[in-house]
Order: sequence, then C-alpha cells, then structure tokens
Amino acid sequence: TPRTPLLQLQGICVSYGPVEAVHEVNLDVHEGEIVTVIGPNGAGKTTLLSAAMGLLPSKGSISWEGQHIARPSVETMVAHGIGLVPEKRELFGEMTIEDNLLLGGFSRWRRGQRDQAQRMQEVFDIFPRLGERRLQISSTLSGGERQMLAIGRALMARPRLLMLDEPSLGLAPLITREVLQVVASLRRHGVSVLLVEQNARAALQVADRAYVLEMGAVALSGDAQDLLNDRRIIDTYLGMG
Ligand code: ATP
Repeated sequence: TPRTPLLQLQGICVSYGPVEAVHEVNLDVHEGEIVTVIGPNGAGKTTLLSAAMGLLPSKGSISWEGQHIARPSVETMVAHGIGLVPEKRELFGEMTIEDNLLLGGFSRWRRGQRDQAQRMQEVFDIFPRLGERRLQISSTLSGGERQMLAIGRALMARPRLLMLDEPSLGLAPLITREVLQVVASLRRHGVSVLLVEQNARAALQVADRAYVLEMGAVALSGDAQDLLNDRRIIDTYLGMG
C-alpha cells in the first residue's frame, strides 16, 4: 500500500482576478523526500508555493498526512509544521545572525529560552559558517550566507516540511550547489523539502522527484535522475552544459 504523503496538493487552481496562474496541479511530498518544482519564469512556481502555504486562496484540496485542510491559512500550515523560505529572504538587515534566528523561533518562545538556544545550536551545526559569525550584522553577509541565514531562521520553528522559493537566486553556481547540498541534507534532520527552482540542473541533482511546471500546469513529473536524462528536459531546461 502506498504511504500517505506528508503534503498532498490535488487539483490546485490559483487565479489572479480573471487570470488563472496555476491550473489543476497535483503534487505530493512524502516524509523524507526532497521534491523540486522547476519551470521557466512566470510558470506559476511561486504562486503554487504561496497557495500551499495558505498565503493565497486556491481551489482544489490541500492535505497534510492524509487530512484535508478545510481552510488553509499561514497559521494552520505553520501549526502543521510547514516552513517557508521566501524568494526575497526578508532578513532583518540591521540585526545580527543570532537575533534573526531568534525571531524565526518566536512562535516557540513559550517552549522556553533553553529550547531556543538548543535549536540555534542545531542550526549552527547545519550551517557552521553562521555559528562562526553569530554576532555579525546580517546586511554585511555574503549572498550565500544570507540564504543560509534565511533557511536557518525557518528551521528555528522546527518544520517537518521546508518549502524554499528559488534559494539559488543571485548566487554563484558554486555557492548554489553548496546551499542546495545542505538543503538536501536536511532530511537527515527529519525535514522534508519542497524546492522551487529555476536552476533546473542544480535542483534535479539534489532532488528525489521533480515536477515541471509550464504555464501553470504540470507538464512532466518523475524521478529527478530520470528527468536529468530526459531529452525534453535537456533541450528545454538544461541548455548546452
Ligand atoms: P518566477 O520564477 O519568475 O518567479 P514563477 O514560476 O514563480 O516565476 P509566478 O510568480 O507564480 O511564476 O507567476 C505566475 C503568473 O502569475 C505570471 O504570469 C505572473 O505574472 C502572474 N502573477 C504573479 N503574481 C501576480 C499578482 N500578484 N497579480 C497578478 N498576476 C500575478
């Protein structure tokens, strides 16, 4: 029998006024999986993530561990254990790494300060570079370090599913690979991942499964390794390299 997915999207449609940006999308993320959504500019990737996070109203069904979520809202999705790293990263630039991380764990304050410190240490274990710079002001960090901090901040809430919107944006290829490798390693810490990426090659290299979104609909999906070798993907998304 197939396992129940952690997150299941069924027939998701999202419209901006009269314009439908996401059309009838079905997508599963199972516990321990790294799933990526790739596709060109404007394909609807960010819109799909926003709907899954309860940030945008959608048609269709969103389920968490087999339970239909009647009214998806950010609060509900966060309570279920979903974390989001938005495309703009939205760090507090004038604050230190430590303070940005503490804000990420804010909703867990009731669990006490000791828990916060422990969680911060876990984030520093995942991103040692953040630990070395814990008192550095965030706006002075490199692009890669800022992305690590944005991910670390989302991890402070102990999500079971982390959704990332284009973490490679503005990063050099080498740094992109480094960040995505850490993202893929999160499963060892019990975190499943839904990764939206325009950098198809880098995403397919770290993911287990992938969905190709074109004009709001899933054009192709499957094993990430298979898609890396798929003619259509190579010709359209992987360029000459
Ligand atoms: P990118 O990688 O460029 O961010 P994307 O795949 O994430 O692209 P979306 O940002 O989800 O795509 O956009 C999908 C479509 O919806 C686009 O045609 C876009 O212009 C449109 N769209 C996005 N946000 C809005 C909005 N707030 N109001 C109206 N249309 C929007």
